[in-house]
Amino acid sequence: MKITENEDKEIVKMIREGLAATGGYCPCRRERTPETKCMCKEFKEQIKDPEFEGFCHCMLYYKSLEN
Ligand code: SF4
Repeated sequence: MKITENEDKEIVKMIREGLAATGGYCPCRRERTPETKCMCKEFKEQIKDPEFEGFCHCMLYYKSLEN
């Protein structure tokens, strides 16, 4: 398993700017709680899930099941 950044630099730039503006909270969500601080709870759970492969909600990170 490995986590990589989206290869699309424009998306990465946009999300990183969003994160900077919110002080580290997920720019794709309205709630600002410890669960929505990047890396958010949802993505941490997707990382733990042996079946999950794909992007986090914002598409900043990609979880690949292969190394
Ligand atoms: S969805 Fe992605 S970018 Fe947004 S908080 Fe979760 S891990 Fe970070």
